[in-house]
Amino acid sequence: MSTVIDRVSGRGYNHRVEMKSEPKPGILFTRQEIETTVRRLAAEISQDYPGKHPLLVGILKGSFMFMADLIRLLDFPLEVEFINLSSYGRGRESSGRVKVVQGLRTQVKGRHVLVIEDIVDTGLTTAFLLDYLRKRKPASLRLCTLTDKPSRRQVPVAIDYLGFTVPDKFIVGYGLDRDEEFRNLPDICTLKDE
Ligand code: 5GP
Ligand code: MG
Repeated sequence: MSTVIDRVSGRGYNHRVEMKSEPKPGILFTRQEIETTVRRLAAEISQDYPGKHPLLVGILKGSFMFMADLIRLLDFPLEVEFINLSSYGRGRESSGRVKVVQGLRTQVKGRHVLVIEDIVDTGLTTAFLLDYLRKRKPASLRLCTLTDKPSRRQVPVAIDYLGFTVPDKFIVGYGLDRDEEFRNLPDICTLKDE
């Protein structure tokens, strides 16, 4: 674990990006590492879904950048939907309560559904969504998450396609926010005072 964290030091955005809030983010996974990982995930998904016309369901807002990069590497017909859930509110601790802020406008019944997540942390959000979708009788239901923070899990979640395992740190960038900030960072970063 420490080797991952060590890489953060000295490689911040301090000199390049003006951020109005402290602390400064440091890189955990570079954009090149992200690209390599997204390619690997796309290759794995491409083994399983051609001909199935899957419905990819992204969880807003955190998954939007990952979704955009991932689907451009998928060379077969598919559909994209987004669902807006809230669990964290504006804080950093999961409230444990998940709410559907905006639901799906597409029928799930009989579809091959692939959920696209940014991070599985306590697992509460993902477990809730998988349950919500399963009740709608999809032909199949799988989960692809860019990152997994297993140290914080409260409920078990089966991950079918996994990008990175991350340490018990709050990460931002590549779509992930801290109070709506930092989504635009092209790398996955930790916040230095964490
Ligand atoms: P869970 O319900 O698994 O605890 O958390 C799910 C949601 O919490 C994620 O989709 C994400 O929005 C947020 N979250 C959990 N951990 C982190 C983190 O390290 N960084 C950011 N930016 N969001 C997180
Ligand atoms: Mg969030």
